[in-house]
Amino acid sequence: MTDPRPRRAAVIGGGITGVSAALFLQRDGHDVTLFERDEFGTGSSMGNSGVISIAGCIPTAVPGIAGRVPKMLMDPYGPLSIRWPYLPKLLPWLISFVRNSREDRVRTNAAAKAALLDVSHAAYDTLIEQAGAEALISRRGVLKVYRDARSFAGAEFEIDVMRECGRQFSLVTEDEIRQLEPALSPVFSHGIYFDGNSSLRHPGRLVQRFAEAFRAGGGTVVKDSVTGFHGDNVVRTETGEHETDVIVIAAGSWSTKLVRQFGTRIMLDTERGYHIMLPHPETTLNGPVALADHSVFLSPMEHGLRLTTGVELGGNEAPPDFTRARRMVDHVAYAVKGFRTTEQSNWLGFRPSTPSGVPYLGALPGHPNVFLAAGGGHVGMTMGPVSGRIVADLVAGRDPGVDLSPYRIG
Ligand SMILES: Cc1cc2nc3c(=O)[nH]c(=O)nc-3n(C[C@H](O)[C@H](O)[C@H](O)COP(=O)(O)OP(=O)(O)OC[C@H]3O[C@@H](n4cnc5c(N)ncnc54)[C@H](O)[C@@H]3O)c2cc1C
Repeated sequence: MTDPRPRRAAVIGGGITGVSAALFLQRDGHDVTLFERDEFGTGSSMGNSGVISIAGCIPTAVPGIAGRVPKMLMDPYGPLSIRWPYLPKLLPWLISFVRNSREDRVRTNAAAKAALLDVSHAAYDTLIEQAGAEALISRRGVLKVYRDARSFAGAEFEIDVMRECGRQFSLVTEDEIRQLEPALSPVFSHGIYFDGNSSLRHPGRLVQRFAEAFRAGGGTVVKDSVTGFHGDNVVRTETGEHETDVIVIAAGSWSTKLVRQFGTRIMLDTERGYHIMLPHPETTLNGPVALADHSVFLSPMEHGLRLTTGVELGGNEAPPDFTRARRMVDHVAYAVKGFRTTEQSNWLGFRPSTPSGVPYLGALPGHPNVFLAAGGGHVGMTMGPVSGRIVADLVAGRDPGVDLSPYRIG
């Protein structure tokens, strides 16, 4: 049973999902404590491509992907790698991933993602206004480019499903690509322009600004690792115990372990991904550009050009391996005029991913006051604020305005 009266709420995880949930709960008058073991804005929500991807409804599991995996793994520039010792642990997730690549499942999963994406921008705007962070968002759209007609033909299914899900985009010609992004080399013949998308100039700093707004609103921050719970009303950390009425688990790909303590098993693992920060080229890009042929994103950030790439299946523990990401820097240098390959910094992040691409959002079975918000995967930065808003709606007993059955837990 939900309860509209103000209560004590404990939110675990200070990534985009957790800080958003904390802010929305605080806006409802609850006494909120946010638990984060690291600094805000340094984890998975820090180093992403920064795209608020309202159009991003296509899951990673698409028809035919299982057959393409061996080729992807063999290709030194391929988008996928696996840490083999982790394979036995990953197997159930992988089997489910393959099942979810059936065409009918893909369409259902895309529609479920689209329903959340449709209301994502409104939730972002509420928090951006509260945090005074408008300068960190660019309202310009996002471009995806293809080198030739053959590579663009591979996008046919994606385009069809995006249309079916009512995504906002337009197909653009070579000339239009040049007008949109004069800094791109004139080698791209086809493109998709997502004019409903926008982008963040520094995702990590945005999370920090949200955390500052939470503190300014009287929220409590506990910098400690949550180790477990006593029933549904006590959060245990490495150094203490905290009583609460509501628990929100928003710990990204680390949520699986915490949820298990309530007797619930979820299909949540991580798709690891890398970034390399480069100096801005002489003529910089106007906004993020996806190089479809290489599964690479180039995102102009406040502090340089960010190259993001890779899906590495290997769990949360294995150390980073930057070999492939570094290889990509030289490989895609042709794409941007004046591209500078000097590495400024690098990063490994952990996308919290379900096999279907559809996140978990709701109360845990048998625990009406314990909520889970995790699994945004490739669009987790986009879905963070709306997930937080919906958790607050559920706590308050309000209608979230979205059918939550696709995101059910258990
Ligand atoms: C290369 C790359 C590019 C990406 N690009 C985009 C993009 O352009 N657009 C987009 O929408 N998404 C993108 N993503 C995905 C997005 O970054 C993630 O889905 C999103 O950041 C997940 O946010 P989260 O808050 O759910 O989890 P996280 O950011 O992982 O936050 C979870 C937090 O919980 C904390 N935590 C975990 N366990 C505990 C514990 N026991 N006690 C206390 N604290 C704990 C962690 O320290 C962490 O800070 C990208 C991801 C990668 C890797």
